[in-house]
Amino acid sequence: MTQNSQIISTGLRGRCPNCHEGQLFEGFLKFAKSCESCGFDFESQDVADGPAVFVILLASAIVVPLALAFQIKLDPPVLLTLAIWIPVISLLCLALLRPFRGVMFGLQIANNAAEGQLEQSSEDDAD
Ligand SMILES: [Zn+2]
Repeated sequence: MTQNSQIISTGLRGRCPNCHEGQLFEGFLKFAKSCESCGFDFESQDVADGPAVFVILLASAIVVPLALAFQIKLDPPVLLTLAIWIPVISLLCLALLRPFRGVMFGLQIANNAAEGQLEQSSEDDAD
């Protein structure tokens, strides 16, 4: 198993990216403070809204064409279309969010991702 596939597999299962055993989550979407198995600090990283962006894009790419085809083929009342597809896209987003958070957390740690910072030039160092 390559490193990236192991990171993705570990994230999808909601396991610690360090030891691949301990639980990453203590709630539905809330990360635990640290790994129960190896003690790895989960509070050192924050995935913020990153997973939500990917989930919204993916869920929209799946649901919008289906909803459009449904609307065009069957021509139902708009309220019926909304009553069907709003819960579908909501449930799909909820189902995808936790695994995406786990994967992004693992990738962030594996790639030492951090907030962008401006490099100091050598002239600034001389001051
Ligand atoms: Zn661990």
